[in-house]
Amino acid sequence: MNPDRKYAKDSVGWQFDNSYARLPEFFYARLNPVPVRAPQLAMLNHTLAASLGLDFHMLSEKEAALLFAGNVLPEGSEPIAQAYAGHQYGHFTMLGDGRAILLGEHLTPTGDRFDIQLKGSGQTRFSRRGDGRAALAPMLREYLVSEAMHALNIPTTRSLAVVTTGESVIRETLLPGAILTRVAASHIRVGTFEYVARLGNSEAIKILADYTIDRHYPDVATAENAYLALLHNVIQRQASLVAQWMLVGFIHGVMNTDNMTISGETIDYGPCAFMDAYDPDTVFSSIDQHGRYRYSNQPLIAQWNLARFAETLLPLLHPDQEKAVALAEEAIHTFSAIFQHHWLTGMRKKLGLFTEEAEDIELIKTVLAWMQQHQADYTNTLRALAADTMPQDALFQNAEFMEWHGRWQARLLSQAEPKQASLSLMRAHNPAIHPRNHQVEAALAAATERGDYSLLQRLLAAVTAPYTDAPEYQDYRTPPLPSERVCQTFCGT
Ligand code: AMP
Ligand code: MG
Repeated sequence: MNPDRKYAKDSVGWQFDNSYARLPEFFYARLNPVPVRAPQLAMLNHTLAASLGLDFHMLSEKEAALLFAGNVLPEGSEPIAQAYAGHQYGHFTMLGDGRAILLGEHLTPTGDRFDIQLKGSGQTRFSRRGDGRAALAPMLREYLVSEAMHALNIPTTRSLAVVTTGESVIRETLLPGAILTRVAASHIRVGTFEYVARLGNSEAIKILADYTIDRHYPDVATAENAYLALLHNVIQRQASLVAQWMLVGFIHGVMNTDNMTISGETIDYGPCAFMDAYDPDTVFSSIDQHGRYRYSNQPLIAQWNLARFAETLLPLLHPDQEKAVALAEEAIHTFSAIFQHHWLTGMRKKLGLFTEEAEDIELIKTVLAWMQQHQADYTNTLRALAADTMPQDALFQNAEFMEWHGRWQARLLSQAEPKQASLSLMRAHNPAIHPRNHQVEAALAAATERGDYSLLQRLLAAVTAPYTDAPEYQDYRTPPLPSERVCQTFCGT
């Protein structure tokens, strides 16, 4: 610890216990965030803070800005940059926290453990050629979209604060710099295991696996083969996570193995975006030229990433390598069925179905194919079905839709539950409002170009109550006009 760094007031309720920093130094590098010139608070999530047992109201804006910039450190933090590797677009690379610092793990009053990480906090020994910094727009984007995902009940890292740094970052142009404070169950990634498997010995991989079991999957510790049980559990969580993405039309955009957590939380909101019109081939990321991470490919990529995870565990799965490989393959093969189960269960809820019938898959596929053919908005179409009466828009006035609607109504009537119960189920699983790309871009432009945060705050309020169809936020339900359509997103690194 640098002796001249002052601690921020500890009255906010920090309770650090830094278990990762107690692992061997092979797993990370110790270093402080690099102070910034003139930090200013842009966003502070008091709701999240309260749920963590933290209260920043007693800090002045200036004190909060210094804290979330990493210029002063919270009492009890032990800053580290974590080492990891990853397959980026299919190619293995050594990475690590090149622009992030883990301040430590905060324990909530109920004993839950969360990583507190600064993203954009300066160079580390993993920075390669990067400047260690982040631009404001992508950090605000991560804040907004991660909080929207949380409100959609999808496991995700969360965002506690954004500060501007008073410094510029050089990208294609000069952009205002910023730092995001990210809160996560942990930052252990598939890529963390890949790093250890590549550079460490079997003892190191055991240390990481045991640590992960202890932190995220304590129930598997007593299993006959705890490491195989760990693999199965991670597969289950990721299959469930990606199914939930698919159900809300979320496209992560950069599903490299370093951007896939072992905890099962969504992480790294770079070029992510929600689909407007339903099209399985939708891809936004400007650098994803072959559509590797397109909407419909996400389950396959998740499974591919999990296979990379399984490979790192081979020495722990069985002393006989052939048997270890057989166990890993068997586990990876379960992914499709688990994913399909979660997706189908979710789709049934979206269509108000309480019971399971073999014909349901056909019913679901038909309406999705109809949406694709008519370029119907995915979110709005499903929400419109949850209204009491047949939707009136011109879009729905065609024979194919009527035919499908009749079949669906008959299917609803075949259930014991009254129609109203189906409609409530549907309204609880089909969001009215989500962060549409063109509205996100407009809000970010106002904040970063004019210092006007009112659009962003309003959009944030709307997307963090996605299932309440608030009359004052109806404008957020309008899909983009052709001229407003965002076709490409950028990771902004
Ligand atoms: P990402 O695309 O954000 O998942 O980042 C991939 C890798 O690049 C991670 O190891 C990051 O730490 C690193 N990285 C991204 N941007 C920067 C930057 N501006 N400076 C240093 N490292 C970076
Ligand atoms: Mg990343």
